[in-house]
Amino acid sequence: MSRHAEAVIDLAHFRHNYQVAKTYAGSARVLAVIKANGYGHGAIQLAKALPAADAFGVACLDEALELRAAGVTQPILLMAGFFDVAELPAILAHQLDLVIHSCEQVDALLAFRPSAPSANALKLWLKLDSGMRRLGLAPEAFRCAWRRLRACSLVGEVRLMSHLASADVPGDPFVAEQISSFDAATAGIDGLVSLANSAALVALPQARRAWVRPGIMLYGASPFAVPHAIAAELRPVMTLRAKLIATREISAGESVGYGQTWRAGQPSRVGTIAIGYGDGYPRHARSGTPVLVNGRRATLVGRVSMDMLTVDLTAVAAARTGDTAILWGAGLPATEVAAWADTISYELFTGVNRRVEFLYTAGG
Ligand SMILES: *Cc1c(COP(=O)(O)O)cnc(C)c1O
Repeated sequence: MSRHAEAVIDLAHFRHNYQVAKTYAGSARVLAVIKANGYGHGAIQLAKALPAADAFGVACLDEALELRAAGVTQPILLMAGFFDVAELPAILAHQLDLVIHSCEQVDALLAFRPSAPSANALKLWLKLDSGMRRLGLAPEAFRCAWRRLRACSLVGEVRLMSHLASADVPGDPFVAEQISSFDAATAGIDGLVSLANSAALVALPQARRAWVRPGIMLYGASPFAVPHAIAAELRPVMTLRAKLIATREISAGESVGYGQTWRAGQPSRVGTIAIGYGDGYPRHARSGTPVLVNGRRATLVGRVSMDMLTVDLTAVAAARTGDTAILWGAGLPATEVAAWADTISYELFTGVNRRVEFLYTAGG
């Protein structure tokens, strides 16, 4: 592509991060969460790179069908289950596993009559609302649903799951409340349990049950907003890079970009990089956000435009038109850039759009 805005996806790093997750998981099985096109990295390429994954998790049927069509044979979990009963024939045909999170889903599933008899065909992950208040059944409804689903001939295994609201905040007491609510609500109910996302997998041994569900850590980003040792164990999978297409010297007091939001305090060298919010770089990144130019730290100055952004190159005096800038990835954690834009790495990754060319490497 002529602009050379590129996302280099390192599949060896993805595999490394999966191994890190495996190590934390111990004897637990690992469902690799690759919803939203693998957090924007390319779900098919990631799934193909991970034949050892115990299972994959996606947001909806379309995402799962794309993987099946590409030849992915591992278990795939639809993490919000079905949105419409019309999806059930395809779910059965492609052997997809379902989260069941509401009474409406339970009723619809029990009323469903497949065209061909398919005993024990469905594997379900019954979701308890243990305090997130987003998806999941209340404790009484959960017990009742479990009994009814276990009695349904279409249903094979029923697993038990919940999602934690504050696992990414070390020391947050709500985590323990949710886990004890879960244990109380599921006491005496038989089934493999899953509670942990990346943050819980890393930080909360009591949340590591039969299955864990890491997402963000597989992409090499720390799940925590505060500095955490896990960051050093992970390797960035996506490196977003673009080209320096112009440089200029400006005088003290001159402004750069729309709205004149940044002014040079001293004579400065300013570079223009061909990537902007139209590619998925966050427009709200503030002046001061780090950008690597030729491997050295420069800082974003002025507002991000649709197709370009500007940096203060005073500290990278040798930089020339045609040189490469890294917006995040190798040498510059996405988590750090995200903080400058008041967001999280998840949003940066999923925001990178099709204007950016994706290049896959197994380089390591
Ligand atoms: C997205 C998601 C995960 C993965 O979360 P990370 O923070 O990316 O590890 C796990 N479980 C559920 C239910 C999710 O929706």
